[in-house]
Amino acid sequence: MDSQRTLRRQVSCAGIGLHSGNKVTLSLKPAPANSGIRFRRTDLGNLEIQATVANLAGMHYATGLAQNEGSVETVEHLLAALVSLGIDNVIVELNYPEVPIMDGSAAPFVYLIQEAGIRPLGVPKRALRVREPIELTRGDKRIALYPCDHFKITYSISFDHPLLRHQARTVSVTEDSFVEEIAPARTFGFLKEVELLRQHGLALGGSLENAIVIGETGVLNNQLRFEDEFVRHKILDAIGDLALVGYPVLGHLVAHRGGHALHTAFAAKLLAERHAWEIVEEPGIVSVPVPASSPVGSTATLRP
Ligand SMILES: [Zn+2]
Repeated sequence: MDSQRTLRRQVSCAGIGLHSGNKVTLSLKPAPANSGIRFRRTDLGNLEIQATVANLAGMHYATGLAQNEGSVETVEHLLAALVSLGIDNVIVELNYPEVPIMDGSAAPFVYLIQEAGIRPLGVPKRALRVREPIELTRGDKRIALYPCDHFKITYSISFDHPLLRHQARTVSVTEDSFVEEIAPARTFGFLKEVELLRQHGLALGGSLENAIVIGETGVLNNQLRFEDEFVRHKILDAIGDLALVGYPVLGHLVAHRGGHALHTAFAAKLLAERHAWEIVEEPGIVSVPVPASSPVGSTATLRP
């Protein structure tokens, strides 16, 4: 937790959009301190969409943002890679309203960021430190954040399927643990669901190249990257969705049976409950006022 970071140089890749099936070009560009993560639609005259809870838009099994009449879908895997590698400021250029799905994991984005290199900006990094528990329950789905001196996630899932009943995992999220244990975990879906999505014109770009598909009797892809790849991917999604608070989080996130709707509703609730957290420049050492330019807004004042 030292200096804010951006990329050393611009990097690009191309892939297909999961829902549209269209080819998309993505470029990551360096950005100045305190500018955050911004999407830029080159097909809409460089219209920008800030990656923040305030811009959350409709979700079709992925997280979408909209601002200034522009939108971008499926942002969560890229956001997870950026925040986990400590990138605070970056411009994400797209020529289509969807981040390419790549192989359904965050690993290709990790390679891209590593290829660009990281540049420290000489401006102190800020984090959101949780001071009191915050919880959100919807039916049998539950998510909560508790005070902790670093970012940690405990996730559990359970499904009524012979191949995927219960999985749970706890990970302290560091650059290394993310790259090795979480980033390679792929999106998954049940074959029945995939067929339904297609009938509704969604997941048109989906294939065994970019998702684990679970059939009645086995995984159609034949091979998993981890025995518990499913819960690892849920952790990846939670990291990406929570990135929309606009700061790295110091706290222990505990979630059961969550999804993008629950994760993002929780990110919004977290920002609204200002008594439950503070912005710090060093973990637990210096509490600072929320800057006017921050995604949290200009009205918050925190105790000195
Ligand atoms: Zn995902």
